Amino acid sequence: MQLIDGKSISEAIQVEIGEQVALLTQSGQRAPHLAAVLVGNDGGSETYVANKIKACHKAGFGSSLIRLESSVSEKELLATVDSLNNNPDVDGFIVQLPLPAHIDERKIIEAIRPEKDVDGFHPVNVGRMVLNLPAYICATPNGILQLLKRYSIETEGKHCVVIGRSNIVGSPMSILLAKNSSPGNCTVTLCHSKTKNLKSLTQQADIVVCALGKPGFLSADMVKEGVVVIDVGTTRVSDRSAKRGYRLMGDVKFDEVAPKCSYITPVPGGVGPMTIASLLQNTLLAANKAIY
Ligand code: NAP
Repeated sequence: MQLIDGKSISEAIQVEIGEQVALLTQSGQRAPHLAAVLVGNDGGSETYVANKIKACHKAGFGSSLIRLESSVSEKELLATVDSLNNNPDVDGFIVQLPLPAHIDERKIIEAIRPEKDVDGFHPVNVGRMVLNLPAYICATPNGILQLLKRYSIETEGKHCVVIGRSNIVGSPMSILLAKNSSPGNCTVTLCHSKTKNLKSLTQQADIVVCALGKPGFLSADMVKEGVVVIDVGTTRVSDRSAKRGYRLMGDVKFDEVAPKCSYITPVPGGVGPMTIASLLQNTLLAANKAIY
């Protein structure tokens, strides 16, 4: 069994990005700039945004954080999006999800100009991704593809079972893995909460991507020997013995599944860090006007 070390791959990618930023600034261009909009003070969102900003600094990017009260109206948030859309000093920006219930997330995502949508959530970017046109690919699935590539994990002709069909992970992951590309060319089965006999499907899988947010869902009896397991799940489970009062749990029963795997991602330190690396890559593409 080989552990897929997303933390060090992510750090290596961030160093590579930093080198490209240095070349840009040496040639007189300004550094790429990522802005993040954070609404309210949800603990998870605070941490994710803080990590993204920290990564920007390390890579030599400019960054700005726009904090808004959780009571902000949809109209005010749309005005913030509009001003970032029109700010020539901002190459790309994200609106950290989830948003408070009174705000329509779809409306906010659709208000972001596709050229600056470095999260790759806008329908234009999703549509372009599906049609094999240049697009910002959403960060988590893109990060997983890079892990498969950097570990030279063969995907062609493999049966991949993706569990979870969210717009930000499961659905795009299934589309990307089925593409005629490398990594890709998998035969993909996309599972969700209405899937029947899920275990009989995962038992046939060469690759299992778990993205459902149910700690310890995938057990050893659900997979075959030699399987590749990618654990996207990150659920905060309260733990008084932990420094922060919680620990992160993946969707896989790691201790019992790992011995059957050829490769497996840990939680934390697997997929999570790759999401940040992908976001920086998309922002660099935006600064270089490489997609639009
Ligand atoms: P989500 O929107 O919460 O959706 C969960 C999906 O799992 C749904 O499609 C649901 O099916 C399916 N599901 C739920 N219970 C199931 C079951 N018993 N059997 C089969 N499928 C089931 O998912 P998400 O936003 O993609 O998040 C999934 C997990 O990934 C969470 O733990 C999240 O924190 C984590 N995540 C991590 C990163 C990272 O950077 N590491 C990034 C994003 C998300 P239905 O569609 O039928 O309801």
